[in-house]
Amino acid sequence: MKRAVVVVVLGLAGVAWQDRSAPVERGTLRLHYVQKPIGTERYDIVTTPGDGGLQLTADFDFTDRGGRVQLAATLRTAADLTPVHFSAKGKSYRFVNVDSAIDIAGHIATVRADGGEARVTLPAQFYTVDGYAPFAAQMLMLRYWKQHGRPRVLTTVPGLPSNDVIIEARGRDEATIAGRAVALDRFVVDGVVWGRETLWLDERGSLAAAITRAGGLSFEAVREDLESGLAWFVDRGTRDRIADLEEITRRTPAAHAGTYALLGGTIVDAVRDRAIADGVVVIRDGRIADVGPRGAVTIPSGTQAVDVAGKTIVPGLWDMHTHMTQIEWAPVYLGAGVTTVRDMGNEFEFVAALRDAIVAKRAAGPRLLLAGLIDGGGPNAFGVYYAATPDEAKRVVAKYHDAGFQQIKIYSLITPPIVEAICAEAHRLGMTVTGHIPTGMSIEQAVSAGMDHIAHLPIRGEAGSEEVTRTIGFLRDHKTVMDPTQSWNELLGHAAGAPVTAFQPGIAKIPPPLNRLFSNAGTAGVDAATARSRVERGLRIVNALHAAGVPVVAGTDEGIPGHSVHREIELYVEAGLTPLQALQAATIVPARAMKLDAELGTIERGKRADLVVLDANPLDDIRNIRRVRWTVSDGRMYDAAALWKSVRFQP
Ligand SMILES: [Zn+2]
Repeated sequence: MKRAVVVVVLGLAGVAWQDRSAPVERGTLRLHYVQKPIGTERYDIVTTPGDGGLQLTADFDFTDRGGRVQLAATLRTAADLTPVHFSAKGKSYRFVNVDSAIDIAGHIATVRADGGEARVTLPAQFYTVDGYAPFAAQMLMLRYWKQHGRPRVLTTVPGLPSNDVIIEARGRDEATIAGRAVALDRFVVDGVVWGRETLWLDERGSLAAAITRAGGLSFEAVREDLESGLAWFVDRGTRDRIADLEEITRRTPAAHAGTYALLGGTIVDAVRDRAIADGVVVIRDGRIADVGPRGAVTIPSGTQAVDVAGKTIVPGLWDMHTHMTQIEWAPVYLGAGVTTVRDMGNEFEFVAALRDAIVAKRAAGPRLLLAGLIDGGGPNAFGVYYAATPDEAKRVVAKYHDAGFQQIKIYSLITPPIVEAICAEAHRLGMTVTGHIPTGMSIEQAVSAGMDHIAHLPIRGEAGSEEVTRTIGFLRDHKTVMDPTQSWNELLGHAAGAPVTAFQPGIAKIPPPLNRLFSNAGTAGVDAATARSRVERGLRIVNALHAAGVPVVAGTDEGIPGHSVHREIELYVEAGLTPLQALQAATIVPARAMKLDAELGTIERGKRADLVVLDANPLDDIRNIRRVRWTVSDGRMYDAAALWKSVRFQP
């Protein structure tokens, strides 16, 4: 009812202005998802008669993998660009609903968002945006920021009390796009979404391009006349982000590195089923020089001792299903004790640059193993790497191989003969293949075509049924690795409106933009008991896979950054695995699956020093896996709390 009133008022106002003022500015931005063109944002800005303010109207519209996403937004400002009204309705991404309206009178804002209404007192400087869309609202936010003394922190609504956006001017870029020299001012905006975005304004203050993330992957907007500059913007944005991560790394240095010894901790090495009490781990130049009970280990004289009495040391954790599309993941993962991740599809240029910065130790982050995404062709395809013929399959596999990717990730629209061609070429080059079971193929067909791993547990039916038992036997016989992403299913499948904290306490510690996103996630029309019974069906299959000897590896598909890794491990214990077996699913089992178990996955002499120092023992209670105090990544020991704080999480 309230909504209808707002629409009528704006509609009348719009008609009135159309008569008196032509648009002072209008623009069309081409929208891209992981560089694939998928839609447009069109905006008009007119001057408000009388008071010299502005009114922006924007239509944001794209289609991703067959799903239409539309958002309509209006922003009205005073002459000094201070917002007086903002409304946005629709979706900003496939599963992100937006329905917010803000009216401002003096320092009081009436905010209707997320199904509630609140009156909030605004600080002297503020702006109204609700996520990255429409980009034109962020453009006006930058103009406001420039006109109002460039404040260090700009509060944005909705999202109070503490949605603080940090804007930095990064200088002028000179580029040649479509044969034309353009001068663009580059800005970094941190906090409209979780993490940093890059926006470019031209000399008139018009938005030239923006790079952000949607649904966890990269999302690019480029003004239509600059469309051919997409690759230039991606490259410039990537370099900006890697430089940011290097800066975070400098500001969050390792507490210990080189040669030192962890003394007095309980060691769960993931080899034995019993812990070593009062243990010692000697670390030298990134490797475990020795490990064992205190009396059995010689500590070279002069070795710096780090007292970890009362703590528990476990191998560094793995996340076998991530999309590490922004630098903020790097400190988050280390803060969560995750020292190796497998990326399951990303922007090629960005993820390769991120990996290289971590390998070169210019940036701290988990080891990054890469699976290159390939989809079939057509309008509903995902990403920009396709294979519809065997020759295309060879070319795209070679491109990933040459860039050092370990795996190929098959996506849903690849046809059966092309799955076979991709797998044959990948195997020939020493790579393995993971991914989705393509549309129209069975698990058996996909594995017979050569897939080595499967993502997302695509097994229907009940554990113990004849059909499921046969499928599990087939997977065991083919040594197929499964990453079941049960924490993701739980997060998206939980009853909408039921609190996420009931199963994921980590949500209380994440930055406000992520918190709003996930607090609004969930499945409508499902009660808590039904949602839980769906999770339990999946967990019974996980348990049956594990019991049959199918390697189960912990993966999140992102979820609540860092915290979902812990939840995935907890869910395996709920499934019936012992705490040690669940820990192994996030350490040695993935190391074997990626053929890196000679180097990683357990706490043994000679392996890389990837370790987590916990405040309590996860074998006593698996939830202790959340209590990360220190993370040792390739021999460098980081304070977990400092890592979390470096990207605006609470430790
Ligand atoms: Zn994924």
